[in-house]
Amino acid sequence: MKIYVTATLRNFFGRNPLIELEGKSIRGILSLLTDEYPDGKKVLFEDNGKLRSFVQIYVGDENRTDEGEWDKELPADAELMLLPAVAGGAPQESIIPDERRKAVFFDDAEVERFGRQLMLRDIGVKGQKRIKASRVVVAGAGALGSPVIQYLAAAGVGTIKAVDFDEVRLENLQSQVLHTSRDLKRPKVASAKDKIRNLNKNINFEAENLKLEADNIVSVIDGYDLVIDCTDNFKARYLISDACVLCGIPLVFGAIYQFEGQVGIFNLNGGPCFRCQFPEPPEAGLVPSCSEGGAISPLPGIIGSIQANEALKLIIGIGEHLDGKLLTVDSLYLRSKILKVKKRCDCPVCGSNAQITKVEDYDYEDFCGLKAKEEEVPIPALTPEELAKRIESGDPITIVDVREPHERAILRFPDAVVIPIGQLARRKNELDPELDTVFICKEGKRSILAINTLREAGYAGPMYSLQGGIDAMKDIIFPHEGAWL
Ligand SMILES: [Zn+2]
Repeated sequence: MKIYVTATLRNFFGRNPLIELEGKSIRGILSLLTDEYPDGKKVLFEDNGKLRSFVQIYVGDENRTDEGEWDKELPADAELMLLPAVAGGAPQESIIPDERRKAVFFDDAEVERFGRQLMLRDIGVKGQKRIKASRVVVAGAGALGSPVIQYLAAAGVGTIKAVDFDEVRLENLQSQVLHTSRDLKRPKVASAKDKIRNLNKNINFEAENLKLEADNIVSVIDGYDLVIDCTDNFKARYLISDACVLCGIPLVFGAIYQFEGQVGIFNLNGGPCFRCQFPEPPEAGLVPSCSEGGAISPLPGIIGSIQANEALKLIIGIGEHLDGKLLTVDSLYLRSKILKVKKRCDCPVCGSNAQITKVEDYDYEDFCGLKAKEEEVPIPALTPEELAKRIESGDPITIVDVREPHERAILRFPDAVVIPIGQLARRKNELDPELDTVFICKEGKRSILAINTLREAGYAGPMYSLQGGIDAMKDIIFPHEGAWL
């Protein structure tokens, strides 16, 4: 049977998150466990043999802390969890070594600037020195990166490295509060650097105008204390998580979509990694990305602020944090939940039999389904101009809109048949194989997936994808009033 030990108790059980022991009941398992880990016995039990009240025992989802449950026979595949009460647990350790903290000094201005933090018992001078000594990489200077970079700089993180390859666009300003109208077309990291210089000149701000790839990520993050994932695509997420595991750097993960967000801490002291939670990405194009699906303006502020807060707690070494947990926040209904993330023994990067030992050797494009397979027939495409011409000349073509309903509400494509991507295979008989069919989506990625889906389903009629999607088309075909709602 497996016993899952939560992070706060792990130091007393040889730092093992998952311990496997032969035992048939909770009592039997606890006896074997404490025989093997005498330190753990002192933490779990009082001298008179009673289980300490801050520890809860779970089997699966059920609380079995009550001793009346301890002699019942358990199925062989049951997993037992030792969960300390929220207010309990061992004190956290800072990820910043003491010798680096001791080398830090403050001038008078810094003492004044950070006064509100210095007066907090849990931070104080020691904590503030750890913050100044820390070196943090923020991957992405967009929606999540905006609050993360600003709060880390305001709190006094000594070295911040921001990595992004994008330029500021008008549509970014709705949520990327680090950038303003004056920054349009500038690299996001350059804009970030200016803002941070205004906020605190003493910060060592490293701006890397760079796309993270397998051959550069290790040199970008190596030697830093913490990486904060503020990216918006699966390739970057897996690449960052794997590189953090291989370099031994903890990762604060954050993600947003429409009204919902997630935050988690991965790879801390051998804890689970992003792949343990999500072993595979969804098929490319199946889930609209944040840029296609959108997000409400304050959402990245909420999620990014929690990421920055988790980062500071790791740096200072205080509180309970999201190590091996995933916080989900639904801002529309104001619900939040903390879910446990289990370390997978068979995880290809952090498991006992890891196959990924170098990011350079791993094909992230292929893993995330971004590569055209060699044997695949290329997808014929129409440029926006070509499609406009065919519509104008009254060519008998079928246009199929595969976007989600909320996307169509912004812009309806005239005379398009609407078939959501998930229903295409089932509704293929609605298409006329004698006619050319043109598939359209927002950016031209899901329309390719649509054609592949129909090919697999055996549809043989001629199919085209609209290159660049409706985004590329809208200036050409929709100058008339009323197209935009
Ligand atoms: Zn893992």
